[in-house]
Amino acid sequence: SDAPRPLIAGNWKMNGLRAALQEIETLRDAVRAGHVGSVDLAICPPATLIHAAVQACGGVLSIGGQDCHGAPCGAHTGDISAEMLADAGAGLVIVGHSERRTDHHESNPTVRAKTEAAWRAGLIAVLCVGELREEREEGRETEVVGGQLAGSVPDGATPDNLVVAYEPVWAIGTGLTPTCEDIAAIHLFIRGELVTRFGEAGQGIRILYGGSVKPGNARELMAVENVDGALVGGASLKATDFLAICACL
Ligand code: PEP
Repeated sequence: SDAPRPLIAGNWKMNGLRAALQEIETLRDAVRAGHVGSVDLAICPPATLIHAAVQACGGVLSIGGQDCHGAPCGAHTGDISAEMLADAGAGLVIVGHSERRTDHHESNPTVRAKTEAAWRAGLIAVLCVGELREEREEGRETEVVGGQLAGSVPDGATPDNLVVAYEPVWAIGTGLTPTCEDIAAIHLFIRGELVTRFGEAGQGIRILYGGSVKPGNARELMAVENVDGALVGGASLKATDFLAICACL
């Protein structure tokens, strides 16, 4: 079957005041001018900017949240539900990012509940998996990623409701990346797990690579088999860098 249309998603993490909306306007203008090819673009700003980002993007890119709670509402001070993200105009939400798994002790069942919450609210879940440095050194990356997929991907995944992001934790924000051979191997493994579980739908579910993607390495990383785009942290903060990555697809 045909390869899915690629997605380049930016994760701003805890960065961005209102002045940063000009980066979204720059992305919007580039898409409108036809400077971005056949690739879907998404930006996940901090929750405080989602509504304004939706207004600024002119409908030509998707805006997403970086996390959601599993419940639709209730006594969860400081948390944000998937319904609230959708109400603010988001079309997707990142779930299970390693910084959430580490800093907030999110388990696979928690990430699964968040994915189901995203679907309940009509959002695409961008579900992150990836091994720690010591797990890679012990050669256990497929075991770890397989466990994360089994434990956190709910039944009913389709190309329209799920994107998987493979993000080796040791490559996030470090400037390190796996070799293209290593990325090919684990993306093929993830593809196999998705097809085993979801059949033909598993062929169309996009598998992003994330971890130190930059304009200088995006071309070789994006050319790897079963890499259907990128989840980009640091290099998504400036529209010029993000557009240079998009030009590598
Ligand atoms: C991320 O946090 O999802 C990420 C990939 O970060 P960076 O691109 O900065 O490594």
